[in-house]
Amino acid sequence: MTEANCRDITQMDKLYRYEGSDLGAVCSPAGSVFKVWSPLAEKVELRLFADGETDVFTSRPLHPDGQGTWKYETAENLHGFYYDYLVWIGGKARRTADPYAVGCSCNGRRSMAVELARTDPEGFGEDCAPPPETERIIYELHVKDFSYDPDSGIPEQYRGKFKAFTVEEPDAPYPTCVGYLKSLGITHVHLLPIFDYGALDEAGELRQYNWGYDPVNYNVPEGSYSTDPFDGLVRIRECKEMIQSLHKNGIRVIMDVVYNHTYHQDSWLERMVPGYYYRCWKDGSLSDGSACGNDIAAGRAMVDNYIVQSVLFWAREYHIDGFRFDLMGLLTVELMNRIRRSLDEIYGPGEKLVYGEPWRANESPMETGTMASLKDNVAHLDEGISVFSDDTRDVIKGHVFYGEVPGFVNGGTGLEENVLRAVSGWRKDQQTFRPKSCSQIVNYVSAHDNYTLWDKLVISMRGQRFFGDGGLPGSALSELFLTKYEDVLSANRLAAFVYFTCQGNLFMLAGEEFGRSKLGDSNSYRSRPEINMLRWKQTVEFADLISYYRGLIRLRKRLPGLYDKSPGAAERIGRETIHGSGVVSFTVDNAPLPGRQEECPWPELFIVYNAGDTVALVNVPEGQWTVLADGEEADCRKKAFLRDGNLPVEAKSGMMLGRKVLQEDIAV
Ligand code: CA
Repeated sequence: MTEANCRDITQMDKLYRYEGSDLGAVCSPAGSVFKVWSPLAEKVELRLFADGETDVFTSRPLHPDGQGTWKYETAENLHGFYYDYLVWIGGKARRTADPYAVGCSCNGRRSMAVELARTDPEGFGEDCAPPPETERIIYELHVKDFSYDPDSGIPEQYRGKFKAFTVEEPDAPYPTCVGYLKSLGITHVHLLPIFDYGALDEAGELRQYNWGYDPVNYNVPEGSYSTDPFDGLVRIRECKEMIQSLHKNGIRVIMDVVYNHTYHQDSWLERMVPGYYYRCWKDGSLSDGSACGNDIAAGRAMVDNYIVQSVLFWAREYHIDGFRFDLMGLLTVELMNRIRRSLDEIYGPGEKLVYGEPWRANESPMETGTMASLKDNVAHLDEGISVFSDDTRDVIKGHVFYGEVPGFVNGGTGLEENVLRAVSGWRKDQQTFRPKSCSQIVNYVSAHDNYTLWDKLVISMRGQRFFGDGGLPGSALSELFLTKYEDVLSANRLAAFVYFTCQGNLFMLAGEEFGRSKLGDSNSYRSRPEINMLRWKQTVEFADLISYYRGLIRLRKRLPGLYDKSPGAAERIGRETIHGSGVVSFTVDNAPLPGRQEECPWPELFIVYNAGDTVALVNVPEGQWTVLADGEEADCRKKAFLRDGNLPVEAKSGMMLGRKVLQEDIAV
């Protein structure tokens, strides 16, 4: 066999499945071991280089070590050496770096042997995740977006880098970067890909930009985010420093993982075992369910082992607290459940978050007997695996691909029933999509893909000019998207109010809380950094919107009726009522979780969404109520004024009332 084909795969999995976790290069003062899995190889040779660039090397032969593995062992500590392999298959040698490498040279061409303990920043041994809070609020962030703007106050040499996360006092007249995140109250930062990706020249200029969904070395941090991409140790240390700093500031760290495809099909995996790692159709052509040219064949023994070990590596070595799976619909339910189980066994149930996109770009030929992790299969996924709810997103702000199509908050009609379904995390009245509990739901209205919330609202509410012939010139585009319109602000606050009062996990794109705009760019994956970056001065201009989000975050953490993620949580939602076009209300049983002692001053909540253009008068259940949030302010304490026994709810606004505990409610 010189190349695996579909017929051979089952046979290979049977004969050569290797369960060891020692693939890669392991260095210590006691010596070094290099091990690869390459069952089709006739010969494997290790080449050691003193650096990542020059071509002078010494060769060491690997020896077969069972189950298709090859090994080279030495008493020398080869920490700091760069390496690659020559793999002979069918008499032909292929050069490859190590797919299991934990370090690499500039642009990832060569692997690096690393004694990982020597890359730890000071105090990393004691680093641990901050204690969990009652609710999780996930903030999606790109490393370069975070500090590219000079107004971030980050020193120039750290802008756009991992290091920006370690700057304790940025030189800005207002809070920016990590200090700002801390003040906002979010609990998790979800970083767009930080593993080594291929789109940028790591030796090139800072103004290059890419989101990073094109993996090259899965177990190595990206070099363009380090201050020195030529020294393979620097990116490792600085990535750890970033995580350590976020932890110190009370924030957990989630990484975006892209195990569904690689930058090119000619990857280290392919070169090590040709034909094994990628899905093909029956005619031998590569499948393209990722729309990125190839699909990694999750469902095969050594593919699954690779992915599980990679996840566990990041959790162990970098103290990563959660994983967001890109195009999870291309991975299998069996694999996702195994990842969940493995993390739970090591770290305790639910300690590490696992969620992903329950879809794929195109069809893909899955392995026989496996099930794709698609939305309709959510009931087969472990309760601790969550999926992005495109239903919640689209019902609130309108169709994700058609900018002008409105949702509930920006002029859409006939959406009342679905908005009420979103409240319980789609646990009621669902036919095909049946989450086990709202813990499987990620509620959001903006992410890196598609329009930002602000842009979507501007386009759907004032977009005629945007879709005109020939587009808008730059200045008109800036004016259209960077103006602070009052009606767009109201719709933005209502959108936030709606998803912050839905049960499930909460997720937001960085900057959503200060009107982040990409000037109408709906796919900015390689647009200029100036389009993508957080514009820190906007935090001043949009201070009122930030304050609204901050209030929603604070409030949410105190409302067990909304943060409860148990299967029974949906029963807390009651009296769902449609009062008219764009006006709905419901009650929430806000009793503490069983066995928990959280302070909980309001045993019941009454929540109204008014997406209409006029004041709605809504009948309120009996009791004495305090206003906890309205269209202007969140986490307030105001007296509820009724008009003829009805609650007036302003146009385009949400309202939350908390029932006061009366003396007779208190047990003696
Ligand atoms: Ca790279």
